[in-house]
Amino acid sequence: MSDFKLTYATMFNPPEELHTKYDEALQKVKAKFGTEYAMLINGKDVLADEKFEDRSPINTDWVLAVMQKGNEKHAQAAMEAARKAFPGWSHTPWQKRIELLRKAASLIEQRIFELGAAMSLEVGKNRMEALGDVQETADLIYYACDQVEANDGFIKPMGKDPLVGYESSNVSILRPYGVWLIVSPYNFPFALTGGPSGAALAAGNTIVIKPATDTPWIVRLLADCFRDAGLPDGVVNFVTGPGRTMGQALVDSPEVDGVTFTGSFDVGMKIYRDFANGKYVRPIILELGGKNPAIVSRHADLDRAAIGIVRSAFGLQGQKCSAASRVIVEEPVYDDLVGRLKELTDKLVIGDPTDRATYLGPVINASSYQDFKDFNEELSQAGKFLTGGKVKSGGMFDKGYFCEPTFVTDVPFSHRLWQHEMFLPITTIGKVKNLDEAMTIANSVNYGLTAGFYGSDEEVDWFFDKIEAGVSYANRPQGATTGAWPGFQPFGGWKGSGSSGKNAGGLYYVQLYMHEQIRTRIK
Ligand code: NAP
Ligand code: MG
Repeated sequence: MSDFKLTYATMFNPPEELHTKYDEALQKVKAKFGTEYAMLINGKDVLADEKFEDRSPINTDWVLAVMQKGNEKHAQAAMEAARKAFPGWSHTPWQKRIELLRKAASLIEQRIFELGAAMSLEVGKNRMEALGDVQETADLIYYACDQVEANDGFIKPMGKDPLVGYESSNVSILRPYGVWLIVSPYNFPFALTGGPSGAALAAGNTIVIKPATDTPWIVRLLADCFRDAGLPDGVVNFVTGPGRTMGQALVDSPEVDGVTFTGSFDVGMKIYRDFANGKYVRPIILELGGKNPAIVSRHADLDRAAIGIVRSAFGLQGQKCSAASRVIVEEPVYDDLVGRLKELTDKLVIGDPTDRATYLGPVINASSYQDFKDFNEELSQAGKFLTGGKVKSGGMFDKGYFCEPTFVTDVPFSHRLWQHEMFLPITTIGKVKNLDEAMTIANSVNYGLTAGFYGSDEEVDWFFDKIEAGVSYANRPQGATTGAWPGFQPFGGWKGSGSSGKNAGGLYYVQLYMHEQIRTRIK
């Protein structure tokens, strides 16, 4: 397995050994079901009076872990711990900081199979997607370290402006802000907590992490990797509890110097507004939703288009911010493409995501499951189901939240569900007369995260030029709109999909966690 590099692009063809190791790890992880996990504040395990059960969406009888329902007091304690640890960590030479962070990344890699198994059980991700999320986290941390190193710690001499008789030196230095809050979503709980954490820490900030209530277990296992790598107490703090109370208390804390929030548009905008009520302007990095189009031209290779679209529409049950949720097709190839999409989708295996053959696992929780039924009821009034439309029932399906991969055709482009992020395995397909019409529709949403195109090489230039999206792909069978990897496809959104204009896992990301200081000295 030594020369196999796991990414979302290579995961379709893994070596056999990877499956064996995952299966072994799964048994070990299952044997620990129901263990209680603490919060981690100032290097200590902290319990709350109230607890909550973390159940699997595969089978809601499975209690994966018992977690702490933290409150405002825990939020404050975590902030204070991070504040106290900041002077020491920020003044630790960057070389030492990245050494410790690389150690944390390598622990993640060593534990990848157990982490991947836990992720499948908690999120409902199929095994390759779960292992991908874990490896991506290690790569994001390595990437942030590499960037700091390649830029010599962001300490750069500037021009000299001497007065005769005085020797001047000017130096630009990027320095950390202080205490950084990281609030993450359920769908990529490892990478979207660990990636921002790696960048914030490499930059010299101390952090407080709050995971989604659906995925606290896997994020505690991430916090363990930082702790076990030897990061000093208080540098990484981990708290759990409801977003509305615990999360809000963290956002409202005067101790916070910066925030990275990844999640829905509505929650992100609320946090953005609340955060603006502080004493002065502080940085906030928002990574929000998507309504990602895949455009198919009459010149497209339809085999590639069909496989790429099916993978991006239904990978992780459509619960990716980058999911292909809109397919826009030129009339001459519409019938042909739609036939292929149906054929491929009908072959997808739905089931326990830890099973090797499974492509689609369950959706995350009861509320998403209900949304699936409600959206399909609404869509049944407006268009036709090409595939799916129903939840799965019978046998194991009755224990979890399993939904059929659903393509809907003939819904007018004016329908609200062409605009709204459903975040489920539901994708609408529409027909257009030409590519200009396709582009107008593609860009006519509030979001601008990812986009895909299938067509001729000249058309690809036109597509890149016109599309309003932070991540764009052309003619890609691995996924029309999904499958970004740090260092290859840095990930971030335009418009309502993101605030910073700089993509994670890219050349300009770690700098977002630092402010510049100019040091002019005359000797
Ligand atoms: P969500 O409901 O917005 O929750 C995200 C996080 O915010 C959770 O940890 C949540 O905690 C917390 N939260 C909720 N209310 C809060 C408040 N008032 N103050 C502070 N924190 C609060 O999102 P989700 O359902 O987990 O994730 C799906 C969304 O994330 C989709 O919209 C998807 O597109 C987006 N996403 C974007 C990207 C990207 O890179 N652009 C990547 C992945 C996902 P609780 O769970 O406890 O409520
Ligand atoms: Mg759960």
